[in-house]
Amino acid sequence: MPDSVYGPARALCDGLLARMGVETTFYDPLIGAGITSLVRTQTRVVYLESPGSYTMEIQDIPAICHAIGELAADQGLPVVRILDNTWASPVLARPFDWGVDVSVVALTKYWGGHADLLMGAVVCRDEHWTEVFDVCRQMGLCVGGDDAWLVLRGMRTLDLRFRQHEAAGVEVASWLQSRPEVARVLHPAFESHPQHALWKRDFSGANGLFSFELKPEAVPAGRPLAQALGPLCDYRRHFGIGYSWGGFESLIMPARFTRTVAGWKGGPLVRLHVGLEDPKALIADLEEGFEALSRSVRATP
Ligand SMILES: *Cc1c(COP(=O)(O)O)cnc(C)c1O
Repeated sequence: MPDSVYGPARALCDGLLARMGVETTFYDPLIGAGITSLVRTQTRVVYLESPGSYTMEIQDIPAICHAIGELAADQGLPVVRILDNTWASPVLARPFDWGVDVSVVALTKYWGGHADLLMGAVVCRDEHWTEVFDVCRQMGLCVGGDDAWLVLRGMRTLDLRFRQHEAAGVEVASWLQSRPEVARVLHPAFESHPQHALWKRDFSGANGLFSFELKPEAVPAGRPLAQALGPLCDYRRHFGIGYSWGGFESLIMPARFTRTVAGWKGGPLVRLHVGLEDPKALIADLEEGFEALSRSVRATP
């Protein structure tokens, strides 16, 4: 599992899967073809997620899939390459061209698009289909008809919404880059993103989800991060505080995440989901947040 993986996926490995005797090795998301050094005879799955949750690393998925494929063929290992493709979804990425065997997408996000349902899709190559289908049936996984209808309806505007989220996201991110409080914006469409070239090679666009790093002096000292960032994140007119992005509305979150092998070297992170509101109104809203934050810094001894 990449060290930048979605938190609940890490919790599944450390919790339920560990109790079932399944061991997990976390790896640096930027490991590339070096992933083969971690493969053992009992390895069954290499899991990928790109960009990483909160920290937005773009993985070299074609290189990882190719290296794993060669090693697995050489040694006769049945290793399945599973990608969490929620950020891009099939709108921005073609994971089967990258060599992925199974692509997992949370339809809860942009596909539903209105923050009112929970659903996911597992899309796989033919040779894995029976296995996936049998597990779904044996675990009783099924979806409600109303939820399925909402996803089908969301799909009608999916492409349009992606383009609007991307354009508004880039506008807000560009503005953030000019703020004195912001150390850097972690947005793969920006040339300053360390893996911008990989993103450009593999993805056909971006969406409204990205993070930014604050300068330490912009954050009130001596308090837990979520509390220190209260003046920026609380009481915004347009940004709710929430995890489940991909709906029409904007969200803001002080990032909290676990790293066990490739520690986060940057400063405090805030994650934004830029929704379908007027980006000018979103910028004005964040401007008020930054003013409240700097008042709080000045008032902190
Ligand atoms: C939100 C999310 C999921 C799971 O979404 P559900 O809310 O459980 O449908 C999985 N992976 C990533 C990267 C996500 O952001």
